[in-house]
Amino acid sequence: MAIEKLLIANRGEIALRIHRACHEMGIKTVAVHSTADADAMHVRLADEAICIGPPAAKDSYLNVAAIISAAEISGADAIHPGYGFLSENAKFAEIVEAHGIKFVGPKPEHIRTMGDKIEAKRTAGALGLPLVPGSDGAVSDVEEARAIAEKAGYPVIIKAASGGGGRGMKVCNSPDQLETLMQQAGSEAKAAFGDATVYIEKYLGNPRHIEIQVFGDGEGNAIHLGERDCSLQRRHQKVLEEAPSPVLSQAERERIGGVCARAMADMGYRGAGTIEFLWENGEFYFIEMNTRLQVEHPVTEMITGLDLVREQIRVAEGRPLSVAQEDIRFTGHAIECRINAEDPRTFAPSPGTVTSYHVPGGMHVRVDSGLYQGYKVSPYYDSMIGKLIVYGRTREGAIMRLRRALEEYVIEGMKTTIPLHQALLTDPEFLDGNYTIKWLEDWLAKQEG
Ligand code: ADP
Repeated sequence: MAIEKLLIANRGEIALRIHRACHEMGIKTVAVHSTADADAMHVRLADEAICIGPPAAKDSYLNVAAIISAAEISGADAIHPGYGFLSENAKFAEIVEAHGIKFVGPKPEHIRTMGDKIEAKRTAGALGLPLVPGSDGAVSDVEEARAIAEKAGYPVIIKAASGGGGRGMKVCNSPDQLETLMQQAGSEAKAAFGDATVYIEKYLGNPRHIEIQVFGDGEGNAIHLGERDCSLQRRHQKVLEEAPSPVLSQAERERIGGVCARAMADMGYRGAGTIEFLWENGEFYFIEMNTRLQVEHPVTEMITGLDLVREQIRVAEGRPLSVAQEDIRFTGHAIECRINAEDPRTFAPSPGTVTSYHVPGGMHVRVDSGLYQGYKVSPYYDSMIGKLIVYGRTREGAIMRLRRALEEYVIEGMKTTIPLHQALLTDPEFLDGNYTIKWLEDWLAKQEG
């Protein structure tokens, strides 16, 4: 059934992104916002806007009762959760569906499975995805842990089953440290996540982060849209992403993509998903699956020409995928810079009012941002204020275009990470595509020194 009015349960650039897809499909939009976001661009552009609470996310963007009430009052027939906030909350998805509202996202049971790290790993293994060697599930017995670590080979990493955001992990280099680190990991996990369960994996020394975009119709058909290389990270936060990865051949892309698409088809997965892998010496190792749209989805849109939000909405309407695997052509190269309101050297947040604003344009340049002159960047939320994405026929072309676009981009009134991207884009190792998940932090330390 066609969606006529969609409630956007998010804020910032992604709320605007979803609004744009809706209006291009003739769908009316309902913005929900906190008191701090009353002047946000997507609130201004939406057909209706409803204030759902005070600035703190727990009282507004995470307030399930307020969001469901807003949907009922406005007569919205669908809710898109964006990323973050309630996007990977299985209970929320169930409540939405129980109210007869379409949830633009996966089936709740799949959100739940992939949200539990041990369950996710078990499911991924059963579906034929390559895993990081390690324990089959939770480990509590030290002797068992020793045997597993011996088999996988040191160093190993002890991970909290309920961990997230790169927290709750301990690297163990030798058997004599194992017992102490397991106890530490367990009690820290208990304190942080209320669950002391841990599991063990081989620790990969210097991998890349390569993720595969997948899409399913929920009826057993699924496709992959290639990979994104998101190795440039600081404290497990992605800074710049590109597609295709500088290290994958077309044959390798088709192989791992095919494995992922088949897994999603077997699962009956619905909607957009991302299967994240660490990649080392030509091998992929599953780490987790995100059951939502990702921040970096535009790079995939640029090289495939597919609108992922439109596709999500179609699937939520119960329509088939608009393309088959053989229709998908990967052309050219796309790069995204995440622009944060932060000091580019210390990364201290730098909220403030935009006093002057000029957006770059020209061929193959895309800016996803809710900024405008006079807009107040609030201190309550994530510091990402925009994304600059460019396309080029080659990686070199994309880099030249990105440098040109960054030169044009003016955001005054606060510090931003634009200078960081400008410096990165001239580094010889970056230019060679020669980087791993450790690279950016080492590079930042060198800039300091
Ligand atoms: P989270 O849910 O907390 O993000 P992940 O399992 O996705 O946890 O891991 C977060 C990050 O930790 C990875 O991107 C990687 O940098 C590092 N990491 C996780 N597992 C391993 C491993 N087995 N070897 C090396 N690094 C790892």
